[in-house]
Amino acid sequence: MTRTNASLRRGWCPGALRPMETGDGWLVRLHPRGGRLSVDDLRRIADLARRHGSGLIDITARGNLQLRGVRPETHGPLVAELLATGLADADEGDGPQRLVLASPLAGRELGEAVDAARLAEEIGAACAGLTGLPAKTLVVVDAGGLPLDDIAADLRLCADADGALVIALPDGRWMGSVTPAEVPAAVRALLVPLAEAHRREPDRVRRLRDLPGEALEPAVAALGLRPIGAPVGRPAAPRAGSVPEHGGTFAVMAAAPFGRLDTAQLDAVAAVAQGDAAHGIRTTPWRGVALTGLADPAATLAALAGIGLITDPVDPRLAVHACPGSPACLRGEAPAQADAAHLAMAAASRIAGGLTLHVSGCAKGCAHPGRAGATLVGQGGGYGLVLDGTASDPAHGRFVADSLARLLAAPGDLAFTSVPDTVSP
Ligand code: SF4
Repeated sequence: MTRTNASLRRGWCPGALRPMETGDGWLVRLHPRGGRLSVDDLRRIADLARRHGSGLIDITARGNLQLRGVRPETHGPLVAELLATGLADADEGDGPQRLVLASPLAGRELGEAVDAARLAEEIGAACAGLTGLPAKTLVVVDAGGLPLDDIAADLRLCADADGALVIALPDGRWMGSVTPAEVPAAVRALLVPLAEAHRREPDRVRRLRDLPGEALEPAVAALGLRPIGAPVGRPAAPRAGSVPEHGGTFAVMAAAPFGRLDTAQLDAVAAVAQGDAAHGIRTTPWRGVALTGLADPAATLAALAGIGLITDPVDPRLAVHACPGSPACLRGEAPAQADAAHLAMAAASRIAGGLTLHVSGCAKGCAHPGRAGATLVGQGGGYGLVLDGTASDPAHGRFVADSLARLLAAPGDLAFTSVPDTVSP
């Protein structure tokens, strides 16, 4: 297996067969189907991370798993074991590894108007032969259970109470409606212009929003889609805690702090799932795990909290997006993940008031491509501050992390206090 320099090429995503070079070794990404894992899978992944990597594991914002610190000489044996155990696919292709994201509790939660897990599979199958799709293309299916509004997507499908689906286009229009049976072909038709444009201009066109507004009109007309009112908003999804299921059981969700676990924690999650007779284990797009089919959710939450996972839905760390930053990432200009917990606690009052905080090791903004109330962007060991923007927007000044913590902890409007307090690292 030859490593490529694709890790420094924009829009590229690693897999199991194509590792990404990072500051702490090679990164190998696994894409569990539907985010579903068994107790044995967790134990196997922990064992592989221990023997072939550094023992650190990330859960990504799409519910994928990353083994960190893999070495050139261990990559081949690791891949052989992943393929033999079905944890990786020999044909990873160039397109999206996880095109469709549905609720981590799909099929089990109250309020679902369609079978989101099945729909996700059907959309994936319909688009499987669509060559040219950018690797980061994402379709979100919101079936009416946990809202997924905080996940940036190229296309967003929301089920209405009758089980039909309305589609949000990148320009903000909601178009409808389509039946579940029509959805796979409709999504494919809407993604064809993106695949074609990306093939022509791979560096310029990476998301559906990069296309001119009229690019989707032929598909919209052919599908007979018409503007329709936006679905009624629902309260934001809890990223941790317990959720009632059909049949009187519960699911619990717990987040790994900033997505990072070690092998002992992964083994411990497996032990909790087995000991509490969980029906299933799924990864969540909030960088954590969900255990389903539980009779006593309080006991399971206490056990998961005991191994260091976040189980309190108001923990300020849940509102913070943070990438690994330096030294784990070669592009990192600041230790984003190491600073994030401290900054989250400092910003706790603001976060309780609705602030979203993004701590990014550099302007690429991998952890959160969208806007945040405050984005801290690694610059030469410190951070630039972007208010209500993205990591690639112009930043105010440059701060050391401690100055930012004081700024975030102090009352007052960040827009008025940021520049005079600028401190160069
Ligand atoms: S945003 Fe973070 S993870 Fe992404 S390239 Fe920059 S430092 Fe690395």
